[in-house]
Amino acid sequence: MGSFVWDVLTLFPEMITAYLSAGILGRARNQGTISVGVHDIREHTRDKHRMADDYPYGGDAGMVLKPEPIFRAVECVREKNPESHIVLMSPGGRPFDQAAALRLARGARAVTLICGRYEGVDERVVQHLIDEEISIGDYVISGGELAALVVVDAVSRCLPGVVGDAQSVTSDSFYRGILKHPQYTRPEVYRGMRVPAVLLSGHHEEIRRYQRHKALEKTRRNRPDLIERAELSEDDRDYLARILP
Ligand code: SAH
Repeated sequence: MGSFVWDVLTLFPEMITAYLSAGILGRARNQGTISVGVHDIREHTRDKHRMADDYPYGGDAGMVLKPEPIFRAVECVREKNPESHIVLMSPGGRPFDQAAALRLARGARAVTLICGRYEGVDERVVQHLIDEEISIGDYVISGGELAALVVVDAVSRCLPGVVGDAQSVTSDSFYRGILKHPQYTRPEVYRGMRVPAVLLSGHHEEIRRYQRHKALEKTRRNRPDLIERAELSEDDRDYLARILP
């Protein structure tokens, strides 16, 4: 199986390369599980001043990214990866979550992410160039780079071989519809705070049940919306009924 091919279009390439050079994603790139092409939108301008943005028609505040360099940059990516799924990072896009990450990981082999800046991009990009818009949440950040990195990171973690231990992905928060259980490492006692005894007991079944209960407890406290939708066993329901909300 070849690499999953990412292409990122941005005015700030160094922001993208910095994050994607270290840790799990840096290793995945070195191993060839993923490949990342970072493209400077400004390289695709053709005027003397290399202008990537301009004033908005209609007299709104701020600047808008011009269509020409973005169209050209996408066409350049398509020459190499004709199948690439083209995504615009936008607070007006479809909300991104773990299910969306899995869908992309399973449904595509190449994805191009366009990072907006300023007030965003010319609407002709939205209407005629891209396949979808993705938002990382209901807030506005200054550029699409951070959002694109969130998507590259979350989707790449779902690809086989990126995270060393596949179980660490499937036990992550959201994967099973609820949050991950609390975790402890050494020392066993820190400033009088003890690691729960059951975790030291060696009883795998009891440990698993304890962790499930703690995960449910935390999910109900922080994310009651997830509990409503989660698949719960009889034991799960008994436990939640037994402890106070
Ligand atoms: N004026 C726009 C926001 C522009 S923010 C609006 O009100 O909708 C500048 C750029 O940052 C956007 O073009 C987009 O690429 C990125 N961005 C900001 N918030 C984002 C979010 N929640 N999700 C994804 N991208 C976001």
